Amino acid sequence: MTTYPDVKLFIAGEWRDAVDGETIEVTDPATDEVIGKIAHARKADLDLALEAADKGFKIWRDTSAFERSKMMRKAADNLRERADAIAYMMTREQGKPLAQSKMEVLGAADTIDWFAEEARRTYGQIIPARFTGVSQMAIKLPVGPVAAFTPWNFPINQIVRKLSAALAAGCSIIVKAPEETPASPAELIRAFADAGVPAGVIGLVYGIPAEVSEYLIPHPVIRKISFTGSTPIGKHLAALAGKHMKRATMELGGHAPVMIFNDADLDKAIEITALSKFRNAGQVCVAPTRFLIQDGIADKFLDGFVKAAAAIKVGNGLEADTVMGPLANERRIPAMEDLIQDAVANGADLKTGGKRIGNKGNFFEPTVLANVPTSAKIMNDEPFGPIAIVNRFSTFEDAVAEANRLPFGLASYAFTGSVKTAHELGRQVEAGMLTINHNGLALPEVPFGGIKDSGYGTEGGSEAVQAYLETKYVSQMN
Ligand code: NAD
Repeated sequence: MTTYPDVKLFIAGEWRDAVDGETIEVTDPATDEVIGKIAHARKADLDLALEAADKGFKIWRDTSAFERSKMMRKAADNLRERADAIAYMMTREQGKPLAQSKMEVLGAADTIDWFAEEARRTYGQIIPARFTGVSQMAIKLPVGPVAAFTPWNFPINQIVRKLSAALAAGCSIIVKAPEETPASPAELIRAFADAGVPAGVIGLVYGIPAEVSEYLIPHPVIRKISFTGSTPIGKHLAALAGKHMKRATMELGGHAPVMIFNDADLDKAIEITALSKFRNAGQVCVAPTRFLIQDGIADKFLDGFVKAAAAIKVGNGLEADTVMGPLANERRIPAMEDLIQDAVANGADLKTGGKRIGNKGNFFEPTVLANVPTSAKIMNDEPFGPIAIVNRFSTFEDAVAEANRLPFGLASYAFTGSVKTAHELGRQVEAGMLTINHNGLALPEVPFGGIKDSGYGTEGGSEAVQAYLETKYVSQMN
């Protein structure tokens, strides 16, 4: 229960060191302590992974959907059995409170189960023919070996959506998992390997992200890529995928508006949004960031929200009473400081927080900025940390205009007692996801993805499997 392992590459069904023996250190963001090391893949390792994925694909596409589904469900059960040990590793490497780590592991098991069921429903179509004796079929086939690139904020959840959808469709996959948070992803892969998924179907590598993506994306073995991360990197990888005619799913940055109207249940809005804002120290692509509060309740909301933020217990995620852990990387601290300084210089009011806590570990105060002008960087760049912006609006039109002002379009939130307002928001807010009067995002069975600069494709719901399938038309005469 209380060990953090060194992590190897998983290639062709074997856990192995890098060919040249290189490693990368892993640091605990709560203590700055080096807790382990991972094998660092270079081209020679990637070549082995590609060769294995090519072979693995041929085996997996010919494994019946029924069998694939059974193995996937076994992997989900393995995860559930091992949840405590994996949650411990995740908290050590990522910083989030143990309870949140465990929820992520158990949530991943649910995701696998859901996609395991979808594996058996990759239906095609029979198209009525013009002539007797002709059968016209649109059949669904796996697109081929996939390369997936995932970030450190949800070490398992970011992988499991891609991995489960790819396996459900019959694809093999090479996962380039986050170097900062490597052990819990390795346990996810182990759960599948132990469930009987054949060698080569899943590969796991770590390395220099740009070096790995520049090599895998153009490689002829890889037929599809899926990336989760920032918009600038996403645009770069999407361009590379386009150049080599590879299909791509892009789950990129957001800057979620939260529109709270005069007729909302204020206490409920404060409770739900404070929880969503500071979960995982705000390092969540769908985290609420731009709070837009209607004039009539703006003062009361600000007062209640600031109190809720200031009451959050920040600490080591291993301690039972910790509500918010450290930031996952040291580099996020200057990023937070810079955004706050810039906002204040632009005239924003710092209502609570604003500083690093202590000088060991990457702890940062839950921060609330009010009356932030659009000239401030934070109103335009994704904060990706524990900072909330609380501004006000007068009319429905003002709220929607501000919500739609940015090029992002990932998550959005609203609180209102009016059915009409809720309906109009559904039509007018430019976002891939809108949740009204509660936080209903990110379940396996519902779409998860963005529009505009937040990317394309969905990683949840039945469409998620379609992203890993291609349609082949077969016409046959008796
Ligand atoms: P970053 O832009 O350097 O990296 C973001 C992620 O992309 C990391 O996982 C990184 O390993 C990966 N990456 C970077 N360059 C890559 C490349 N050339 N090829 C393949 N993968 C590559 O930033 P960071 O400091 O790690 O994180 C900060 C920013 O990243 C945040 O502001 C946020 O916008 C974004 N981010 C988004 C998510 C998300 O869930 N959408 C998760 C983590 C980070």
